[in-house]
Amino acid sequence: MTQRGSGESDLVFVGAGIMSATLAVMLKELDPTLDVEVLELLGTGAAESSNPWNNAGTGHAALCELNYTPEAKDGTVNIAKAIDINMMFETSKQFWTYLVEQGHFDSPRSFINPIPHLSFVRGDKDIAFLRKRFEALTTSPLFEGMEYTEDRAKLEEWMPLMMKDRPANEKIAATRTESGTDVNFGALTVNLLHHLTQQPGTRIVYNQKVTDLHREPDKRWRLTIENTQTGETRTLRARFVFLGAGGGALPLLQKSDIPESHGYGGFPVSGQWLRCDNPEIVSQHQAKVYGKASVGSPPMSVPHLDTRVVDGKKSLLFGPFAGFTTKFLKQGSFLDLPKSIKGNNIGPMLAVARDNMPLTKYLIGQVIQSFDQRLDELRGFYPGARKEDWRLEIAGQRVQIIKKDPKTGGTLQFGTEIVSAADGSIAALLGASPGASTSVSIMLTLIQRCFPEQYQSEAWQAHLRKMFPALGGSLDKDTELLHRVRSHNNEVLQLK
Ligand SMILES: Cc1cc2nc3c(=O)[nH]c(=O)nc-3n(C[C@H](O)[C@H](O)[C@H](O)COP(=O)(O)OP(=O)(O)OC[C@H]3O[C@@H](n4cnc5c(N)ncnc54)[C@H](O)[C@@H]3O)c2cc1C
Repeated sequence: MTQRGSGESDLVFVGAGIMSATLAVMLKELDPTLDVEVLELLGTGAAESSNPWNNAGTGHAALCELNYTPEAKDGTVNIAKAIDINMMFETSKQFWTYLVEQGHFDSPRSFINPIPHLSFVRGDKDIAFLRKRFEALTTSPLFEGMEYTEDRAKLEEWMPLMMKDRPANEKIAATRTESGTDVNFGALTVNLLHHLTQQPGTRIVYNQKVTDLHREPDKRWRLTIENTQTGETRTLRARFVFLGAGGGALPLLQKSDIPESHGYGGFPVSGQWLRCDNPEIVSQHQAKVYGKASVGSPPMSVPHLDTRVVDGKKSLLFGPFAGFTTKFLKQGSFLDLPKSIKGNNIGPMLAVARDNMPLTKYLIGQVIQSFDQRLDELRGFYPGARKEDWRLEIAGQRVQIIKKDPKTGGTLQFGTEIVSAADGSIAALLGASPGASTSVSIMLTLIQRCFPEQYQSEAWQAHLRKMFPALGGSLDKDTELLHRVRSHNNEVLQLK
């Protein structure tokens, strides 16, 4: 363990969002003697993508998101990704359950609330797809409890606001799973950061911009940090660095110049929501209802009408409407994208520009939409929507991953990816989907990759089994284990 305030730390985390907070808490649980420093550019934690109004707060478990179950050309529905995401969310719930049981969080209701998850489609083609998706998913015990209906009376019960003023002859169908969730990832991050500050050997420092990082001859990393309030700079040396800087991770990864970083680029997609706080309307919708994405749109632009629970108050969000900006962070600079173009990634970036014209067209269409056009989209979900009840809000930035592809030269990827040095001394998290919901599994993978010996040690394995009772098991195959773990998590997280 290194000495506090010595300009050295065992572990340094850049960014105080959900990813750094999750990883820092996990590592500190596994080895409380580690000295930890979290460096955050802004004045508080969870102020970028992890802020509750910058993301949709969906506890992604593939219960309602149609893009996780693609339809193949032969008409079959592939549920492999949905199974993975569902199990990853169960992993997150195990970790949060552990922390609640240890008394580290006040109340689970401060960050997670039960909200049914629905998929909603219109027209024969999409109804046929939804039915097949339902039949495929309900072969797995993970999706137990999912219901399907085309019956209008049932639909009125499930989503009264969306059924009001809807043409009687419109063909519609929906699935519903009652055990869905709304997660305030901002409150969760704040809980995690607070828990960290209670432990010895931990510092969280705000208004700290990491501007550069270098490898020293002894293999440690030296970070240059600017205090954004005073303009002063300092350096900090660390054995391990996590670049959990959200959209700011790519430029820092490029500065590290590890060979594994070469070829990566970023494609920023901004977002907007329509938000309604009118209690009379909000009280008529108790669900997250996901529809089908329009042709050419990126997967994360699937439209949805959501109940949100933030600071104990309910609101409705509809969107997201995508947009284009060259900023990598909501509070970033327009130079972020141009500055990220390097000799080692220009090939992949040009290939992606060449091969993604439908996406570009889609984004341009989204950017030039008027408020009334956005309301018209909302009316596809909620026909009676009135202009005066809704306002436009800016969502967070997502920087999608661009990487080398041997066939096409470059590819655009919509998931998340850990990029780490071969010796595990530095790792960055790129991308943003499914994002915060799967932060715990992503960080478990990172620990396996960057701390392989400690991960295998008896001490860490014993502690990991306490945090993750299903570790090593297979929740999709072992129904007894699934029921036991899920029912315990739901009890502790008050999701029943
Ligand atoms: C529109 C939208 C909707 C989404 N919906 C969902 C959803 O429904 N469910 C879900 O699970 N996920 C969702 N996500 C994804 C989720 O929000 C992100 O995956 C998650 O918040 C990323 O967390 P993070 O810690 O990596 O980044 P962030 O929360 O962005 O944190 C990064 C931090 O790093 C700081 N930083 C940046 N550069 C530096 C630097 N140089 N020095 C110091 N600090 C720096 C930033 O200020 C920031 O505080 C959504 C995202 C968006 C944008």
